[in-house]
Amino acid sequence: MIRRMTDKLVRPKGQLDQTQPLPFTPHADHRGSISTQRTSESESSKQVDADEARASEKSPHQRRPKGTYRLTDFIFQRTLGTGSFGRVHLVRSKHNLRFYAVKVLPKDKIVRSKQVDHTNNEQQMLLSVQHPFIINLWGSFQDALNLYMVMDFVPGGELFTLLRRSNRFPDPVAKFYAAEVALALNHLHTLDIVYRDLKPENILLGLDGHIKIADFGFAKYCPNTTWTLCGTPDYLAPEVINQCRYNKSVDWYALGVLIFEMLTGLPPFHRPDDSPMALYGRIQSGPACIRFPAINILAKDLVLKFLEGNPSKRYGNLRHGAGDVFAHPWFREVDWEKLRNREITAPYLPKVAGEGDASAFEKYPEEDIVSKYGMPAEDEHGDMFPDFDYTAPVPL
Ligand code: AMP
Repeated sequence: MIRRMTDKLVRPKGQLDQTQPLPFTPHADHRGSISTQRTSESESSKQVDADEARASEKSPHQRRPKGTYRLTDFIFQRTLGTGSFGRVHLVRSKHNLRFYAVKVLPKDKIVRSKQVDHTNNEQQMLLSVQHPFIINLWGSFQDALNLYMVMDFVPGGELFTLLRRSNRFPDPVAKFYAAEVALALNHLHTLDIVYRDLKPENILLGLDGHIKIADFGFAKYCPNTTWTLCGTPDYLAPEVINQCRYNKSVDWYALGVLIFEMLTGLPPFHRPDDSPMALYGRIQSGPACIRFPAINILAKDLVLKFLEGNPSKRYGNLRHGAGDVFAHPWFREVDWEKLRNREITAPYLPKVAGEGDASAFEKYPEEDIVSKYGMPAEDEHGDMFPDFDYTAPVPL
């Protein structure tokens, strides 16, 4: 099922300039993620899927102990964002008065959209990961109708918003964010987790300006290869579009797209008023059809190494793995140890008034949705999400 094609994007003009934001509606501009079931299933492909399901179950990672939460622990405030399948709220704990972000996923929508495995994966992957540049999940629970995931609130907003307001980033700014993303991806890959939905919409900025990668809806334990078509059209590697088996190198491909978008304002294969098929055709043709604006020659070299169509020749997926990425000349001045320890000052400090200030996020219609959370109802899908604890369906 293809949810939504790339929306129109604002054309790049100037450099990072917070004083003259362009008029735009960021959440209307958001690019939807896609996820589809394969249509033609051979017996061997069914076997492969069964193998994958078993591999998933065997994920060897230590899960962090998670907290036990219920709806009545929180005061729900405004909406921070809407994802492909749910909504994320700013909430305040009644106990410690801290602010958190709670992602609410309606179970019937997850089941209808065939996202049960992806949702269980999201919860499991997040609980097995702890990294300074990855969102922290405290715990999860469910009631009759919804799943709830309790995360740290990341107040600086999306990198997407900053990028659209700035049109494009100067080279050192793009390099800073790309380097932090590279560290986060390498950490996931070391755990055999493929992320599969890298894009500026999923990169949040903390109070200190450092990144937090959010939305693990397509993340998956993947020690070898997998083949589900999922991601965001502009960021899909050609082997995903070609319905081939693929590995973690699709994330390095997406980092190439991200670097290009940060430096130029648009993803490399984007054309205005495009059809999905035309976009996919260009991705399949490869970098030869990219119109390269004038960008740093070393950045261009790295982008081309990431956008390599043959995964076995792609940077990040060669003999030295991520080591090749860290050693690339565009990153020459990066002190990776200091960067990982957040000892490098971020290029942009979000303007946030206080702990629960969500002004960096766009406003969303609230639709009185919160009063319906926790309502007693028939629970049709309860057995499908075993890792989400049950808490009493107490109305707010
Ligand atoms: P998701 O469904 O995970 O893609 O989340 C949708 C949107 O909600 C994101 O693009 C962010 O704008 C916002 N969001 C998600 N998680 C958080 C968080 N932990 N803190 C602040 N905003 C968040």
